[in-house]
Amino acid sequence: MITDYFSRLVCLCFASFFLVHAGAGVAIALLIPAALRRAEKMPARSAAAFLFSLRLLPFVMASCVIAALCVPSYLLLEPRSGTEPLGGLCATAAVLGLLSWLIAAARAVVALGRTLAFERSCRRSGSETRLAGRTVPALVVESRLPLLALSGLIRARLLLSRQVLEALQPEELDAALRHEEAHQSSRDNLKRLVCLLIPEVLPLGRCLAPLERSWAKYSEWAADDQASRGDSHRALWLASALLRVARMGSAFESELCATFTACGWGLEARVERLLRTETAREGMREPGRFAQHRELLLIGAFTATIVLLPGAMACVHRLLERLIQ
Ligand SMILES: [Zn+2]
Repeated sequence: MITDYFSRLVCLCFASFFLVHAGAGVAIALLIPAALRRAEKMPARSAAAFLFSLRLLPFVMASCVIAALCVPSYLLLEPRSGTEPLGGLCATAAVLGLLSWLIAAARAVVALGRTLAFERSCRRSGSETRLAGRTVPALVVESRLPLLALSGLIRARLLLSRQVLEALQPEELDAALRHEEAHQSSRDNLKRLVCLLIPEVLPLGRCLAPLERSWAKYSEWAADDQASRGDSHRALWLASALLRVARMGSAFESELCATFTACGWGLEARVERLLRTETAREGMREPGRFAQHRELLLIGAFTATIVLLPGAMACVHRLLERLIQ
């Protein structure tokens, strides 16, 4: 394949992204069992932040390499001559890289479309309100479906059905709404979208999915801890609300909504955990911002060090030349 200067740069970006991302992704996938064992020993909120950082790590690493090394070295050192042939390895890696992005984008668009359609249907049959003592606005839906969820990526809204409002006791409702507000303060819906938007290691693979599942589990536990705030009575009310709503059945499932019972997934473990008062207190230990995203910060520092090394650009350019041939 014959390509001009800027087409070669685009192909190199996709190819380099795919190769670096795949290499880092496979390394992270091999470390998943050890990472999950480490997460088990952490407070829930720290475990969720740790696993989310690991899920992002291959993407952050590949993006840093492309933005800080590949593009500058190509623009600085590649002669602006006419056309040049593109090798088979580079073309294949570029196609796989592009495919990974397209599949991830399609996944995110489908989930967004489903969630927006559901929110529109809730707005048609519901009324906006602000429940007493709540920071997040609510939409109460006149439905017999058991709906209790937090929707919205930046500006959140509680979605509640009349059936849930009437079925829960005031203390149960307070604990359940605190749980949903905790998802809002952690921006969990936005993190769900990020997990959908960033590509997998291979276009159709899901080898990092265990990290996403475990992050989902710990983010529920962290929201439970935030809602109970170390108070065993609140923890009991929350467990009671969970069981009551779960018995009503499931109203809606979405990758981008924090549903209260998380579609029943891991419910037993959540209830058992809430019944142990010491885990409720565990939630009071707040991890620092550095501790939450230590892995990502270390990768940023590592990339900056590599960029500043003398001769780094020339070395990367030689590698790009080999890849392109
Ligand atoms: Zn939740």
